[in-house]
Amino acid sequence: MATVSSATLVGVDGHPVSVEVHASNGLPGFRVVGLPDASCRESRDRVRAAILSSGLRWPQQRVTVNLAPSGVRKAGSGLDLAVALAVLAADGQLSASALESLAFVGELGLDGSLRRVPGILPLAAAVGEAYVVVPPACAREACLVRQATVRTAVSLKVLVEVLRGGRGWPELPPANAAFEEARLPDLAEVRGQAFGRQALEVAAAGGHHLLMVGPAGSGKTMLATRLPGLLPALSPDEALEVAKVHSAAGIELASGGLSLRPPFRSPHHSASAVSLIGGGGARIRPGEISCANLGVLFLDELAEFPAPVLDNLRQPLEEGRVVVCRASAAVAFPARFMLVAAMNACRCGADGSPGSCRCADSSRARYIGRISGPLLDRFDLRVRVRRPDVEDLLSPSGGGAVRTPSEPSSAVAARVATARRAAQERGVRSNAELSSWSLDKLAPLSPAGRRLLERRLRDGQLSARGLDRVRRVALTVSDLGGRQGPLSGEDVLLALALRAPGALGVETTSGAADPLPGLELTRS
Ligand SMILES: [Zn+2]
Repeated sequence: MATVSSATLVGVDGHPVSVEVHASNGLPGFRVVGLPDASCRESRDRVRAAILSSGLRWPQQRVTVNLAPSGVRKAGSGLDLAVALAVLAADGQLSASALESLAFVGELGLDGSLRRVPGILPLAAAVGEAYVVVPPACAREACLVRQATVRTAVSLKVLVEVLRGGRGWPELPPANAAFEEARLPDLAEVRGQAFGRQALEVAAAGGHHLLMVGPAGSGKTMLATRLPGLLPALSPDEALEVAKVHSAAGIELASGGLSLRPPFRSPHHSASAVSLIGGGGARIRPGEISCANLGVLFLDELAEFPAPVLDNLRQPLEEGRVVVCRASAAVAFPARFMLVAAMNACRCGADGSPGSCRCADSSRARYIGRISGPLLDRFDLRVRVRRPDVEDLLSPSGGGAVRTPSEPSSAVAARVATARRAAQERGVRSNAELSSWSLDKLAPLSPAGRRLLERRLRDGQLSARGLDRVRRVALTVSDLGGRQGPLSGEDVLLALALRAPGALGVETTSGAADPLPGLELTRS
């Protein structure tokens, strides 16, 4: 009987597993008990081949492998290595003392090599031993957790030699310098787009979901990709949370250390529901929305995503997490992300204003209608992005109505950081997280602000829920300006302009002026 420590992945969390092997006389055989999944049961074949090709002996006995605790479902091939060592120890080829204070995680190749498994970061964090032995390909990733000292070996053969005292531990592979983080794109490279830039700044400052509507080639994607450069860095705890999810999703992590950069994920509209939301076969994987946790999920060409996929976004947007159910289990993944989406105003790519294209009104309405009302309602900011003016493109420094267009990301990020600090003093990460009942206390209205909202409510242009969203945005606008006290008329007016229903280009016939770029603001 031998016991070896390891860990298995449930969702994005590691759980310690104790691999117990009992070898008894009787007909030679091999049995795994303790809730193993299919790939776990197959470990028999890999383990046997690896042991034999490493020049070791396969026991001619009845071998029973118990994976404890039995209540946790064991998935994947990460237990291979621990099973192999427990078999060798039970057969007397390794002494039990050699395995003390060590835990093992890794898949075995038929040739005995140690292979990478997804989720090494949460797995290494879960083991209760002082040392964890992992495959070389994920040794650096395991080093990101501090709970255990990381050891590695290229193959079972080398590992057994080390454990028998025949040689020292091999060195860890060097941190991959080529994996240095790339420079983020900068707002200084965006010409014109004064209103789009302002919307981006308010979105970053308040954590508000942002929808940009505009013709093809107007720079919506260019703006969205500048968002990570405006957001505050993650705290070390948040960075670890992000890295855990990415590790479980099989995304290669920066090897130099934990990245403090908020994640930015931009899945293509042809992505499957599983890759977007999470799920999969035997092992339930986190989807893109969870990989974007604590960062940005950018959906370009929003109207091209299948409606059922978009419907699946509503629960995570509401709760900040997603529960993926399969026959075998239900797993919750974190999914607190900022949703940024871009779409054309018309199928043909024109800007959607009357007369801008020859498509029928009904076809244009159908295109917009692909985004359901409830999803549309989640966007605190809905702005129209236009093609930049010719003058903006040609003049060296540009010249804008609202802010200097060539302002670099660092200057905007400084204002965003101030606004985020104000939100933290209210006990939330960003204003978008403020509860409705706290708004009367935290975001009181000035008489002018109240009159503006009253008018919109009476006109039916604003719903009760919309009212709360506008107040949160107005509070962010006020924070960005470093103002305190009740929300002014200007704060409210900008918040209303940033949530323009006309941004979708189908309601502009109501006689209301197009409520977009800074024009209304200067009038106030
Ligand atoms: Zn059209």
